[in-house]
Amino acid sequence: MNNEYWTRLGHEESVKLLDLKDPARTFPIFWHADGVRVYKHQKCWVYSYSCALKKGPSLSSKLLLLLVRETLVVKPSTHDRIGEVVGWIQRVLQTGKYPDKDINGQSWPVGSREERLANLEFAGGYKCAFSAFKGDWEARVLIHKLQRSYNHINICEHCPACKSNNAFNYRNFSPDAAYLDVSFTHAQYLVMTPPEFHSSWLNVPGWTKDRNLEDLLHVLHQGVACFVVPGLVCAHVEAKLGDGIRLQDLGFELENRVWKHYKAWCRRTKVAGCGHRFNLTRFGREQWGYYPELHSCYKAYTVKMLIYWVYAFLCDEDRNVPNSGNRLRLSYALAKTQWLFDRSGPFLTRQVKDEAVYLGLSFLLLYQFLAVENIPQHKRNWKIVPKFHSFLHLLQYVKRTSRNPRWEHCYQDEDLMKQIGNIASSTHPFTMDKVTCNRYRALLEFGDVF
Ligand SMILES: [Zn+2]
Ligand SMILES: [Zn+2]
Repeated sequence: MNNEYWTRLGHEESVKLLDLKDPARTFPIFWHADGVRVYKHQKCWVYSYSCALKKGPSLSSKLLLLLVRETLVVKPSTHDRIGEVVGWIQRVLQTGKYPDKDINGQSWPVGSREERLANLEFAGGYKCAFSAFKGDWEARVLIHKLQRSYNHINICEHCPACKSNNAFNYRNFSPDAAYLDVSFTHAQYLVMTPPEFHSSWLNVPGWTKDRNLEDLLHVLHQGVACFVVPGLVCAHVEAKLGDGIRLQDLGFELENRVWKHYKAWCRRTKVAGCGHRFNLTRFGREQWGYYPELHSCYKAYTVKMLIYWVYAFLCDEDRNVPNSGNRLRLSYALAKTQWLFDRSGPFLTRQVKDEAVYLGLSFLLLYQFLAVENIPQHKRNWKIVPKFHSFLHLLQYVKRTSRNPRWEHCYQDEDLMKQIGNIASSTHPFTMDKVTCNRYRALLEFGDVF
């Protein structure tokens, strides 16, 4: 399994930099960092790690490394120092042996346990190497001090795509879009970035900007799909009822016919449905001038299933509705891309990969087409945000590596964050870090005792 992983990713700069001597016995490690809410209004930063090849419930597939209370974070030193710690950990893990020096390069105290263990194998010759950093956008921007992000005019660390209305505008998804011709290598990215904004993860062997992975949860299920699903439903109902439609008519349709179709579909397909009945507010459609966008009461998993549902809905309703063709094609392209990922293993076959990438790119193009068509209309729809651009890079990554992004998404990481958040919230602020770690350890060793 390790061999396949490193071979498939062998053309990635990160893997070349790692220069693994024993890939068959080296496990790839994913790191995840996230801000987690504790108590009501506080936050702490949680770093955890896991093996890229292991899927399963969060408590048995992820481990907490550390947590820091937001109020104790010194920007940017705290996260920078953590990057150095992770770098040391990964350098040690990559040797397969206990270290003979501590993180500051000091020898262990004479007679200490550490000194006795130094240079002995810690796992019978098995090793671990860095393979990716994961986190939502906020975490990525903060920890890696990104100067190109959704917060900036230049939105992307991989290419010159930008928010300005010039040839590099990111809203253009055509295959000849100008930004596609000039992607940045990791080395170019470093040259473009002032040294004080270099990520301290440069201390981690194998880290490159390309290993800050995009993931389906944040990019698609909490991003792109939140615009696509309500956009399709609203456009469909509006076309069906015609120009005279009033907002209250749309609201009535959402709450009744559309909602009933969703509930029936959930029952039929045995999908766990959501209890939040559709309405104008939850679809972000309180005015014609607002772009439809799902309310955050719809969680990532629900939104993912809505991708499938909306295609079924449009198929069932596709009778004499004006301009239904592109909406149907759009929802088909997205649903099938998701489906190809869902039914595949950690790596896609050549054929599946080609189809998924083709459909994903078609989806983006169709969406852009609808968005452009909508510009003169007073009923706004088809908003494009930087996450659509991330989705494009995610597809390019799939194209390069055949990696199934479903194997890298953050669902279980987020679940661990939830659990840590719950534990931390039940502790006293003064002892939160220590008590949380102890309770987390007890949870691993004895099961859920709290
Ligand atoms: Zn996360
Ligand atoms: Zn880009």
